[in-house]
This record gives sequence, structure tokens and C-alpha cells, in this order.
Amino acid sequence: MSDSLQPFNDADVNSASPQALGAYLMGMIASFENTRVLDITNLPFDPASLNPESWYPFDYALSLGELIDNTLANSSSLLFWAGVKFMEIWYWQGPGKDIIFSSKDWVIANQQGDGYNSVVKGAINDVGWTKGLELNLEEGFALIESVMPWSAEYQRGVLFGGFMLFDDASLFNIEIVSSLKEPHLPFPRTVFKFTFRFKKDFSKNIDSNDSSAKAVEYLKGQVEELLTRENHKQRIYMLREQYIREMEFLLKNSVSELKKSRNKLLESNKQLSVEAATDSLTGLHNKRYFYQHIDQYLSAAARRGCSIFVLIIDIDYFKGFNDYYGHLEGDKVIVQVADVIKTIFKRGEDVACRFGGEEFVCVSASHSESEVHALADKVKQGVIDKQIEHAKSDVSPYLTVSVGSTIGQADAMNAGGIVNIESLLALADEALYKAKSQGRNRHVHV
Ligand code: GH3
Ligand code: MG
Ligand code: MG
Repeated sequence: MSDSLQPFNDADVNSASPQALGAYLMGMIASFENTRVLDITNLPFDPASLNPESWYPFDYALSLGELIDNTLANSSSLLFWAGVKFMEIWYWQGPGKDIIFSSKDWVIANQQGDGYNSVVKGAINDVGWTKGLELNLEEGFALIESVMPWSAEYQRGVLFGGFMLFDDASLFNIEIVSSLKEPHLPFPRTVFKFTFRFKKDFSKNIDSNDSSAKAVEYLKGQVEELLTRENHKQRIYMLREQYIREMEFLLKNSVSELKKSRNKLLESNKQLSVEAATDSLTGLHNKRYFYQHIDQYLSAAARRGCSIFVLIIDIDYFKGFNDYYGHLEGDKVIVQVADVIKTIFKRGEDVACRFGGEEFVCVSASHSESEVHALADKVKQGVIDKQIEHAKSDVSPYLTVSVGSTIGQADAMNAGGIVNIESLLALADEALYKAKSQGRNRHVHV
């Protein structure tokens, strides 16, 4: 009954180690391109460096198959359409065009393994094959065993895509007969059953008035073909619907992943700008923060009709302290002084910064001028109250600070707009110099 074509012959198998054509690997990757779900960065080869006409270790194909299975094992429609796409690539950009010219060729090539052998060579029994198990051209029936490093659904798409290339088949159907994982194979062994019919089988000249048994059979054949086509359309429609749903799902997921990573990025940017504006030793703002925010701060004070106090606080005889107690102890002292400053300049209208070394700049907005003296005294006393022993100080047994301050009058600010922070800093520095030269552990205001 069935013309049994020569099944794939084991004796033909080349014993050289198996290889895969670059076009095959590229086609597999490209067939998933529109899904953008394959993370090809983790492959053991660089996909960008593949050459379609070169041969590569078959392991490349295995790792690619594994990646696809791991990523999309549950997306049957994605696998199916990717298989269809692969076949288009194999045919139009790969070696397919030179081997196959019709769906009949396509079935026969699949039976003989030519399609697969065009992209894989070497010890093919180890890496996959297609074999024709049975063929009946008259009834349009074939059993083909296809063993590939692909999931059954992808392979089904490949076979379906093959039929889609030609219009000489009027109907065809592909069923998976069995798909079993075998211990000696790194991929499933799948048997497909093809049912197909060639258009030319129906192109007999039949008179429409002919009521002979032959004509009836012909009409029955046509009805069958129409029904099968209709079923086919339905099935493709369903597959496309499913594909769209799965793509939507993937898209939603990747959008929410994108949102998550965007939020993470924003969060770490925020963290970075906080870090960039913070002095890591004391947790106070740094000079950078000071210059970034001072204008905004000054204009807010001017709007409220407040005066601006600028204080520079500097630890006395700190070089001697460092030399005597060591740099680490010096750091601890800087932190302690910073803590005192934090408790005093803690209002929203205050800015306290470590400007560098053992020098701090504080800015405070207020209505009353006497307040600057109170603030400076609090800082001085706060540091003395810590009773940090300072054997190298000429002014006290304990660590002390000197404070220089100045004021930007609210009137001047209102009249001339924003005060110049540089000139205020220069005046405060001048005051600090005076405090130092007058003996330290004191406050001078200019
Ligand atoms: P004055 O009373 O006139 O302020 O004298 P001083 O010794 O405090 O001032 P000087 O500017 O001569 O020396 C400051 C010292 O501060 C020099 C340096 O060893 C020390 N120093 C600067 N930054 C740091 C720091 O981050 N950690 C420590 N431990 N020491 C620092
Ligand atoms: Mg000092
Ligand atoms: Mg100093």
C-alpha cells in the first residue's frame, strides 16, 4: 500500500563530531526575536559573531535549545510561531531554497532527513534526525519521526511553516504522535504524523453534470478539502489569539519589570545624591550641598524678612590634638563637635555643614540679632561640656572651638535682593581669625 521511502540509513551517519551551521543557530535566535524574551547573553558563544555559512560545535545548538525550553516551556503558541518563523528563515535565508521546491519535496526531504542534514552534520544519530516511517502519496499520508533538539511545539511550528511555504498542498495536518525524553538523548524524541493532500490530485477534468461514482468521489473530496481548510483556519486563528495573549502577558511582565528597575534606579540615584551631599564622617551636609542649596535658602529667608547669620566654627589647636592623640582620635573628636552642632542648628531654617577638616559652617535665619551670640555661646559651651581632654591646648584642659560670625541684614536683603554668600563667608572668616588671634575659645562677630 504505502511506498516506503528509504528511511534514514544509520550506515550513512558520519562519525565526525556533530556540527551545526551558523544559519541554523542564527535562525533559531532570530525566530524568537520579536518576543524579546530569550536572554542570549548567557549563551556559551557570542551570537553576534556567528557566520551563516560556518559550522559550529553542535553543543551551541543544544545550549540554545535548552535556553529556549527553560524560557518558554509553557508558551506553546510562542514556540509554535517561532518554529514557523524559523522555517521561513531556513528557506529564504538558509539552504532551504536549493533543496525544496514544493510541499511534496518538503515531505520527502523531511522523510529523508535532507532538511535537517542541510544545517547539521556529523554523528547525526547523536544529535537528531528526521526519518520517513511511512508514505502514501495517493492517500496523502505520511508518518515522520523527527528527533530534534527542539521542543515538540517548536518542531510542530517548523513543520507547519514548511507547508506554509508552498501552495501545492491543499490540506495538511500535523499531529504529535509521541514525544518522549530518552535517557541517551538530550532532547525529546518526537514522532509526527502528517496528513496532507496535493492540489493536483483533484485537478481531474470532471463535468459538473456527471453523476458517475468518479464525479461524486471528486465532489466529496472537494467538500472534505473545504472542511479541512475551514478547520485549519480556525486552528490558526486560535493559535494566533493565543500568541497575542501570551505576548501581551510577556509585555505586561516586562513593563512591570521595567518599572521596578526604573524605581530602583531612581531610588539609588536619590541615595547617590544624598551621599554626594553628605559628609561621611559626621553625617552633616558637605560643602557641595552648601553651595547647591544656599541661594534657595537665602531667598526663602529674604521672603520671610529674616536676617541671615553665618557662623564658622573651628576646633582650637587641632593639629596638636591629632599629633598627640592620633588621627583616629581626631576623627572621633570631629564627630563629637558635629554632634553638638547638630543639636543646635536643627531647625528647618538652619543649615549646618562640615566645610572640611575641623571647620564647620552654619547658617541660620532669624529676626533678632542677639540670637547669633546665643547660638555661638551654645556651640562653644556644648563642646566644653563634652570635657574632651586636650593636653596640647594652650587655652583649656578640654577641647574648645572658636567661632567667627557675621550677619546679612534683612533690610539689606530686601533692598538689594539676595546677599552674596561669598562676602558673608569672608566676613565670618575674618571674625574667626580675630577670635583665634585674641586667644581662641571665643566668639567674635563682625
Ligand atoms: P587653630 O587653633 O589655629 O585652629 O590650629 P589648628 O591646629 O586647629 O589648625 P590647623 O589648620 O593648623 O590644623 C588643622 C589640623 O586638622 C590639620 C590636620 O591634621 C587636621 N585635620 C584636618 N582634617 C582632618 C580630619 O578629617 N581628621 C583628622 N583627624 N584631622 C584632620
Ligand atoms: Mg583649628
Ligand atoms: Mg582650621
